[in-house]
Amino acid sequence: MDSSKDHRSLQQKTAREMIWTSSHSFHGWTCSQCEWNSSLPTLLNDPEAKTAYDRLAAAKFRDHKCADHLSRLGSADDADSFTPRIRKLVQQGFKPKDAVELFLQEIALEYRNQPKVLAQAKADGEDFLRRVRAGLI
Ligand SMILES: [Zn+2]
Repeated sequence: MDSSKDHRSLQQKTAREMIWTSSHSFHGWTCSQCEWNSSLPTLLNDPEAKTAYDRLAAAKFRDHKCADHLSRLGSADDADSFTPRIRKLVQQGFKPKDAVELFLQEIALEYRNQPKVLAQAKADGEDFLRRVRAGLI
């Protein structure tokens, strides 16, 4: 018997996604299927250090079993997170770089008097592109 040919576990692995969540209370990676998460230090500014943390989170994500965690109720806490909006544009066919630019233009219109929100959006956009370059997403 070849245990590597377990179709069921393969399906489970491909069905879930690692999702970046950024809110006032939490910065880090979450699972689309369960409450697993891996938080990132918010004071981390060095892009290479961030990528190292991302890779670590990706490895932990691969190893976790959704069954060991509570299942996620509804979608991740998207209210304060911009990354899902960028992902949506990419899914619509935009190149990541164009998607981030378009996204920042939209945010600039929506939050024109909120420099803090704009700064957060810009940081999220830069993080998104860095992760694309690192091959993480
Ligand atoms: Zn999970």
